[in-house]
Amino acid sequence: MVSRTDFLHALENDVKPAFGTSAEALDHLLIRGIINWGKPVAEILSDGNLYIQEARSTEGSGLVSVLLEGPPNSGKTALAAQIAKNSDFPFVKVCTPEDMVGFTESAKCLSIRKIFDDAYRSQLSCILVDNIERLLDYGPIGPRYSNLTLQALLVLLKKQPPRGRKLLILCTTSRRQVLDDMEMLSAFSTTLHVPNLSTPDHLLSVLEEMDLFSKDELVSLHGKLQGKRVFIGIKKLLCLIDMARQVEPNYRVVKFLSKLEEEGGLE
Ligand code: ATP
Ligand code: MG
Repeated sequence: MVSRTDFLHALENDVKPAFGTSAEALDHLLIRGIINWGKPVAEILSDGNLYIQEARSTEGSGLVSVLLEGPPNSGKTALAAQIAKNSDFPFVKVCTPEDMVGFTESAKCLSIRKIFDDAYRSQLSCILVDNIERLLDYGPIGPRYSNLTLQALLVLLKKQPPRGRKLLILCTTSRRQVLDDMEMLSAFSTTLHVPNLSTPDHLLSVLEEMDLFSKDELVSLHGKLQGKRVFIGIKKLLCLIDMARQVEPNYRVVKFLSKLEEEGGLE
């Protein structure tokens, strides 16, 4: 016979969330991988490794909280997921507003709280809080936000895990200023800036990886891009590349460049 305790135990430990395991949730964020398009990417990941070490270390406080901030589409979520994956911590959990659509403020707070409580029970834990301004229901028109959720997060960001337990918190936002206004920035141990691609070389590194243009086309692109200003987020660039794939090969270069200009990514 299955007792209530068995049932609750199974619910807590055996029943996988709708999306699958935490590792799957991370892999889902990393489906397209991380392209090393330039120095900023390598630096963010190597800083990430330092924070992982700091979180792990026995001398440390046991709590490291990192804010990855940068423009929309710059790759914040994927980089945070990669750092979480690199940590190899046994408990990894993604907390995203997408899983909380339609939640009341208090349901949201409870569910965030539960994620942290679960993390405290594991020796080494990593929590990825994605898109923090959206979790706070921030809207630029108004502006409004959920003060209840803000207060809950502020407490949890600063709360020391129990003795001997280690917690690495990775948060992402494209609204650094808003978090600053909410006096949330100071709650983080550190921030990492995730920039857009900003030079023709950055752009060419991605194109070389993507297997879209031939060698000759890349050379011609190289020429066409000289002296231009590039400014585009990796996520948007990958969309443009997907689109260009659908274009007849003869027109690809031209179409790609004109789309890039249209999107404001090239001047
Ligand atoms: P949003 O502002 O909408 O939250 P974001 O900044 O979080 O966007 P991501 O959702 O992380 O951006 O999208 C980045 C996409 O680019 C992912 O599909 C990721 O796999 C891919 N990618 C490839 N190379 C990189 C890189 N060097 N850094 C980050 N993401 C990369
Ligand atoms: Mg994101």
